[in-house]
Amino acid sequence: MFDTHAHLNAVQFQEDVEEVIERALAEGVEHIVVVGFDTETIHGAIKLAENYDFIYAAVGWHPVDAIDMRDEDLNWIEELASHPKVVALGEMGLDYHWDKSPKEVQKEVFRRQIRLAKKVNLPIIIHNREATKDVVDILREEGAKEVGGIMHCFSGSLEVAKECMDMNFYISFGGPVTFKNAKKPKEVAKEVPIDRLLIETDCPYLSPHPFRGKRNEPSYVKYVAEALAELKEMPVEQLIEKTSENAKRLFGITR
Ligand SMILES: [Zn+2]
Ligand SMILES: [Zn+2]
Repeated sequence: MFDTHAHLNAVQFQEDVEEVIERALAEGVEHIVVVGFDTETIHGAIKLAENYDFIYAAVGWHPVDAIDMRDEDLNWIEELASHPKVVALGEMGLDYHWDKSPKEVQKEVFRRQIRLAKKVNLPIIIHNREATKDVVDILREEGAKEVGGIMHCFSGSLEVAKECMDMNFYISFGGPVTFKNAKKPKEVAKEVPIDRLLIETDCPYLSPHPFRGKRNEPSYVKYVAEALAELKEMPVEQLIEKTSENAKRLFGITR
């Protein structure tokens, strides 16, 4: 299995990250992308990617903290883009749920990161919360199609999923797709073509059923795979194989 979005760099894993990684391996997780979203978590993602050969890093600036991003932070992200274990930029995007960073600041920081991704030719990982229209508009206006990427923890409509797939994006599902009352994500997941589907945990957040509310971890990505396999009416082994192939193709991972 390929967990395309994990925050093993978060404080919640400070005490036992090695055991968490052991458990993931034991459950059949073969690749993990650890996502950095500010100075500290970018350092953490790079360190984990350097320490474990099956862990890769994504580096970007989170929209909630957009207001804190300085020019030198973006320059640093650009330098890291050539690191051999950095496979994507992000997470980046828009988050209108929290109001720490004004919308206009979020948009500008998002646009600058898309432009950087095109410059360094890396795919992007998109975080969207309550901002779908603006996210899609900016992706289109900035020509994000050139690099493509991932709509992470997708919760939008099928129509939006299609628009994003037209722009070379993959649709990634996490824990919420396992919830019994998650009607919309289930309906959308069912319709997304298998060659555009990805699985993720977004750990330590968004634990799948039956761990809802507890700390999430990469070994739980199998619950996401099982839920999607059921929706796609295919054996879970096949779902795992396809989603892993998709992730490797997107991230340019050959092993
Ligand atoms: Zn996110
Ligand atoms: Zn995340």
